[in-house]
Amino acid sequence: MIFNLLALLITQIQDIKFDDYFVDKTMRVDMYITGNHIEEVITLDEIIVEDIWAGSKTNLIDYTGYGCEQVRIYHTKSSRMIYSRGFCTLFGEWQTTDEAKVMKRTFHNTVRFPYPKDEVELVIGVGQKKLFSMKIDPLKVRAKKLNPSRHENIKLHYSGECSKNLDIIILPEGYTKTEEKKMIKDAERYTGILLSSEPYSYFKNKINIWLVKLFSNESGVSEPRKGIYKDTALNLTFNTFEIERYLTAPDNKRVRNAAAHTCYDTILIMVNTNRYGGAGIFNQWAIFPSDNEYDDYVFLHELGHSFAGLADEYYTSKVAYSDFYPKGLEPWEPNITAYLKRDEIKWGNLIKKGIPIPTPEKEEYKNQVGLFEGAGYAAKDLYRPMMDCKMFSKGSSPFCVVCKASIEKMIKFYSE
Ligand SMILES: [Zn+2]
Repeated sequence: MIFNLLALLITQIQDIKFDDYFVDKTMRVDMYITGNHIEEVITLDEIIVEDIWAGSKTNLIDYTGYGCEQVRIYHTKSSRMIYSRGFCTLFGEWQTTDEAKVMKRTFHNTVRFPYPKDEVELVIGVGQKKLFSMKIDPLKVRAKKLNPSRHENIKLHYSGECSKNLDIIILPEGYTKTEEKKMIKDAERYTGILLSSEPYSYFKNKINIWLVKLFSNESGVSEPRKGIYKDTALNLTFNTFEIERYLTAPDNKRVRNAAAHTCYDTILIMVNTNRYGGAGIFNQWAIFPSDNEYDDYVFLHELGHSFAGLADEYYTSKVAYSDFYPKGLEPWEPNITAYLKRDEIKWGNLIKKGIPIPTPEKEEYKNQVGLFEGAGYAAKDLYRPMMDCKMFSKGSSPFCVVCKASIEKMIKFYSE
């Protein structure tokens, strides 16, 4: 029965023909999210039309199950879901801080989908719970068109048509006009790191990488705790949520406007600094420093969060989140679990017979897939797939087998 339902679902997913429902542009819906640790209210900011649809025209329904929330588009006439995508938000991260228990705050957010031909209903939800919905008739809505881009873009690596390849956009932050050469050199270096790292290296010919030449008035990035405030293109800042190394982009509109004229499925923000720090939020952005001794690690690690929905597997470092993963709830991320039974563990089919569950941290299990205790900021009751992984330790370790598989899944999702 379950098999039949699954087969039916897959047939329905494949059955949605892009040209029946969409035109080759992007509808971008900007919104505000307000709330506290338990409450979330979403309100509309504005609807914007972008010239290109860079996402897949085949994979319109998100089959990965990744993400804290989901945007779903329903075709009004047929009541059919014609697009969906999972994502997380900076608001969602803030909700887990102590500050969210004593006050309300507002964050800006964006969802994007192919531009519909007919009236649709946009729904944002968590599971069956609806957080926001609105009807959008493309013939009546006055979608705002952005001014033509003032920023040139460069193809750092090109494999072909946007909708048939994974499009990665690099937005530089804190580079002045006089640092243009460094900006291009840094972006080329990261392109090299990405294309030579597994599993991205296997899919080189399915990836496009773009750089938008975005200049800042001042060099570097803001660091409020040190009294450093910089006039930069994207308004990025260290010390988000009072975490020293947490470098984020709260000014979402600036980021989205800077990216709007280039094909993109996933955003990288390369920050001209030698300070250690960064961030990665699923389907938002990955942020990394240009010149830190760990910069290639931070880059790939944060991209693991933002692109492939990977969780942090480490549990020793101090973070300001309280109960990031509530007890008793299975996290959605593919590389951590609260389950102890082989058939419930997401990667259970990869655990060889004879490997004990949970798996002790012994030399003999070093290269084996198992169930290792300690993950997602918790030393107890949360488990990771292998002893080491780029989502676990700082340095040159590769991604574990499970993380690699998730990255591959996402590359295929965008490039089919
Ligand atoms: Zn891993």
